[in-house]
Amino acid sequence: MSILLFAEHAQGKLKKSTLEAATYANDLAQKMSTTLCAVAIGQIEESELEKLGKYGVSRVYAVRPDASKPYGHASEAVIITNLAKELDAPVVVFSQTYSGRAIAPRVTAKLEAAPYSGVTSLADPANGFEVERMAFSSKGIQTIRTDKDKVVITVKTNSYHIEEQPVSCEIEEKSFSPSDTSLDTIAKELLKAGEGISLTEADIVVSAGRGMKGPENWGMIEELASLLGAATACSKPVADMGWRPHHEHVGQTGIQIAPNLYIAIGISGAIQHLAGVSSSKNIVVINKDPEAPFFKVADYGIVGDLFEVVPQLIEAVKKVKVAS
Ligand SMILES: Cc1cc2nc3c(=O)[nH]c(=O)nc-3n(C[C@H](O)[C@H](O)[C@H](O)COP(=O)(O)OP(=O)(O)OC[C@H]3O[C@@H](n4cnc5c(N)ncnc54)[C@H](O)[C@@H]3O)c2cc1C
Repeated sequence: MSILLFAEHAQGKLKKSTLEAATYANDLAQKMSTTLCAVAIGQIEESELEKLGKYGVSRVYAVRPDASKPYGHASEAVIITNLAKELDAPVVVFSQTYSGRAIAPRVTAKLEAAPYSGVTSLADPANGFEVERMAFSSKGIQTIRTDKDKVVITVKTNSYHIEEQPVSCEIEEKSFSPSDTSLDTIAKELLKAGEGISLTEADIVVSAGRGMKGPENWGMIEELASLLGAATACSKPVADMGWRPHHEHVGQTGIQIAPNLYIAIGISGAIQHLAGVSSSKNIVVINKDPEAPFFKVADYGIVGDLFEVVPQLIEAVKKVKVAS
């Protein structure tokens, strides 16, 4: 018996969310007095596979399809299910990324396991794998447990810490011959949305809304984000009006994020916006209207004109950086 982790990667490198899921899976493996194995599918650097050992993975199965014939999510689900059966894994852990969300439900159905999506706390195996998860577009927290003996977990990104707990790690090459690829959708080309930091993986996000008045004013948002090593985001109307690209739109109908720090500038805090950002660990709101709903969920708030506050914030951050 062993817990199985899906080791997701991008451009040959492990994603930060994979290290969170690995720490989660390792903590759970220790609670269950078992070991942690991982499966990595696709073209990934050997050193990245070895790195998994630092996070408690004692065996990595590397499945490497021909570079010209990558597997889609349907085939990946078959690979992971087969391995889970081989290892008699009571738990399979994914991060709640696009791929995790596409593969985990298929694996859940094939294993007849309990589906645990968007999990934010460590499961308690002694109590029906009880966990907390985000519900109702992140407006609520739900506690769930199951009678089943198998669970498939997707761990909400940025909701679990990353911790090294090194073990000796073996890498085993696994071959796979898909019998049916008719359900596989293959990404033919990766068009990078932007050169900046990935929004879903970012620790800090600087986000702005209609209070910015127009796209020509975004220079200060980008400058602040660059100084803080942050990703940039925006509210829906800002993307709809073409002030910012759609891939920056966060909220109920956009990307859902949970960074350590979310700075909301000139955004009212409508419920649909909050649905995508309210899981952020710390929220700073800058708005000239003291009645703006965003202040109700803010950890820190500045009531003021953003065109005065943001330049001062930039200068303050510069001073701190020079001093340190
Ligand atoms: C079905 C549905 C889905 C939706 N999905 C989303 C979603 O995913 N994401 C999303 O963001 N929205 C979504 N919306 C839209 C949402 O309801 C709001 O309309 C939107 O979030 C408002 O964007 P905003 O805060 O940028 O603009 P506004 O509501 O216009 O707010 C601008 C804010 O800027 C402040 N401001 C103005 N000037 C200044 C200044 N000089 N200094 C400081 N502050 C200033 C104002 O006080 C105000 O609070 C959805 C709506 C619907 C109906």
